[in-house]
Amino acid sequence: MAAPITEDLTPYSGVAPDAAWRDEVRGLAKERDAVLLAHNYQLPEIQDIADHTGDSLALSRIAAASDAATIVFCGVHFMAETAKILAPEKTVLIPDERAGCSLADSIDAAQLRAWKAEHPGAVVVSYVNTTAEVKAETDICCTSSNAVDVVRSIPADREVLFLPDQFLGAHVKRETGRDNLHIWAGECHVHAGINGPQLAERAAANPDADLFIHPECGCATSALYLAGEGIVPSEQVKILSTGDMVTQARATKAKSVLVATEIGMLHQLRRAAPEIEFNAVNDRASCRYMKMITPAALLRSLRENKDEVHVAAETAARARGAVQRMIEIGKPGGGE
Ligand code: SF4
Repeated sequence: MAAPITEDLTPYSGVAPDAAWRDEVRGLAKERDAVLLAHNYQLPEIQDIADHTGDSLALSRIAAASDAATIVFCGVHFMAETAKILAPEKTVLIPDERAGCSLADSIDAAQLRAWKAEHPGAVVVSYVNTTAEVKAETDICCTSSNAVDVVRSIPADREVLFLPDQFLGAHVKRETGRDNLHIWAGECHVHAGINGPQLAERAAANPDADLFIHPECGCATSALYLAGEGIVPSEQVKILSTGDMVTQARATKAKSVLVATEIGMLHQLRRAAPEIEFNAVNDRASCRYMKMITPAALLRSLRENKDEVHVAAETAARARGAVQRMIEIGKPGGGE
């Protein structure tokens, strides 16, 4: 389990991301036969030294297919757990096990069991931002890019319990028009902080900019509303997973783009399309948990073989089916 929210969350510090650091990290990774995976919301220097960057689905796939003996997962705890579920024979390390997720913490296995008891026979669809214990109670995991397809694959007369993100749930409900979809009222503190009025103000000040919006943002509903009202031309509003944002950055003709998600994403977008000006809708939308994976934490991880991620065999076995269904249905590049 990730650390409870009351624990000291001061990141490991005191190491500069200089050439000596890069050499030592790469040298230790080679020595340990380790592959370094970094989520799109990681610090730029962590993204730049990783073997692979991406969203949670892309990284899960790489972890499962990798020949490396060790996976060093630079991301938050549930992501490293997912890698361990898919690759139980490998050593999975997270550079700081206190890196949790407020969205994953918004429901635990006991709460989910109680919710299931209220809706016997319902199909449980969980966004990938959940603990291993919650995944073990889940029928199909999903990412933000395949959530709609996953729900559409369920017979129309079956009730669906969708968790934990209420904004992604609202997006799926709107897209599928499904009345028997029940949504857990969880949210990510970072995405919830990006709101509609802020988006309207930024859009008005940048009338030619495209809007890239992650569906977990509290602003997704407002963005669609603004598009519907003609305040923002609908062709400029793109609701995208983080992986799809990179693809769209390469394809758009816009000269500037407003991005509504965690600000770490800007680094990948600027790398993908340096000629475009990318700006955050909210500059303060930074996930403190993601930023706990510092240069010092990564070095400690490789030097000391820490923090190792463990998932009980029985929990992992139950969770694996739900995660594998997510990977089969997901297109490359999906999820947070
Ligand atoms: S940005 Fe939100 S959903 Fe993503 S890891 Fe951080 S707290 Fe969790």
